[in-house]
Formats: sequence, structure tokens, C-alpha cells
Amino acid sequence: MIGIVVWYAIRYPFERRAKRVRIVSHRRSGLDRLALASALFGLAILPAFYVVTGIPRAADYPARSWAIFVGALMFALAMWIFRRTHKELGRNWSVTLEIRDRHELVCEGPYALIRHPMYTSFLLMGLGQAFLLSNWIAGPAGIVGFVVLFFARADKEERMMLEIFGSRYRDYMGRTKRIIPYLY
Ligand code: SAH
Repeated sequence: MIGIVVWYAIRYPFERRAKRVRIVSHRRSGLDRLALASALFGLAILPAFYVVTGIPRAADYPARSWAIFVGALMFALAMWIFRRTHKELGRNWSVTLEIRDRHELVCEGPYALIRHPMYTSFLLMGLGQAFLLSNWIAGPAGIVGFVVLFFARADKEERMMLEIFGSRYRDYMGRTKRIIPYLY
């Protein structure tokens, strides 16, 4: 629950500011909306519902203190990366796939190593959630939400960036990985 509040506190100012920057091109689609909704459902709505109601109780298993410790650490790391990606993207940030007026290609900070550090933070949140919640449904739901969002989006986002930035993005792709530094 703390994670969800901190998540929104980080995001909110960017959402407000983003409203003032003109959008010049976008790849919004029904599929993207569905993918966003599934991430929101798996990473926030379902776990919050579980924490408040304890449902589905039949899927509970005994909690372990080491797992809660590992989950909290992962979640804290995710929040830190999430905040850094917002700061680095600044006025270029969007909830969906959009190109903004005077959009700049960001290649610094976490973006120097991977092209999708914000999605990495979602993966870490999902993993953290799986460790924090000792329930076979509410626990892994975040990872499922991440998988749907990432695979519905990454290719399309990279194609959009290639169309807009051309060889600059191609070079950038050549020297970075997608979500795990040096690996993938
Ligand atoms: N995939 C990135 C960004 C997610 S926010 C990440 O996981 O960190 C989505 C928006 O960010 C897209 O609309 C796109 O316009 C913008 N974006 C993605 N990568 C970018 C980059 N390297 N520089 C500038 N904007 C970028």
C-alpha cells in the first residue's frame, strides 16, 4: 500500500506538467490501453484489494520474514529507478506512446544502459509484490501485468522512436539493452 502511494506521488507532478506540452505524434491504441489497464490491475488494483479484503484467502500460504525483507528492498529499488526515469525523461514523458513538441532523445542516467528503465522498475515492483504478498494470486499478478504491458509495447515504442529519430535511435539501440543492463 505504501508502494502504491509513493508510486503515485512520484508520477503525479509529471502527469500535471505533461498536460502543458503539445503532442505532435502518437501510437495510442486499444491494445495499448488494454495493456496499461492490465498493468494497473495486476500491480495496484488486485494487490490493494487483497490487502484490504484478504480475498482470495484460499490462495494464501505462510508469510516468511526474509521474503518480506527481500520484497521491500526490491520495491524500494523499483521506486528509486521509477523516480530517476521520470526526472531524466522530464518533459518528454508520456503515459502512452507519444512524441511531444521538441521531443529530445534521452540517453543519460539509466537510459545510458537500457532503453526501458521505467519498465525495469515495473518488473522490480512485480517481483517485489510477489515476495511481499504470500498469496498465489495477488503475489504474482504484478509480474503478469508487467509482462502484458512490456510485450504489448516495447516493439511498438522502439519502432515509433526509430521513425522519429532514425539513425540516432538505431545507434542508441546498438549500444544499449532493453530492460536488464548488459543482458536483455
Ligand atoms: N520505455 C521508456 C519510457 C516509458 S514512458 C522506459 O521504460 O523508460 C513512454 C514515453 O517515453 C514514450 O511515449 C516515448 O515518447 C518516450 N521515450 C521512450 N524512450 C525515450 C528516450 N530514450 N528519450 C526520450 N523519450 C523517450
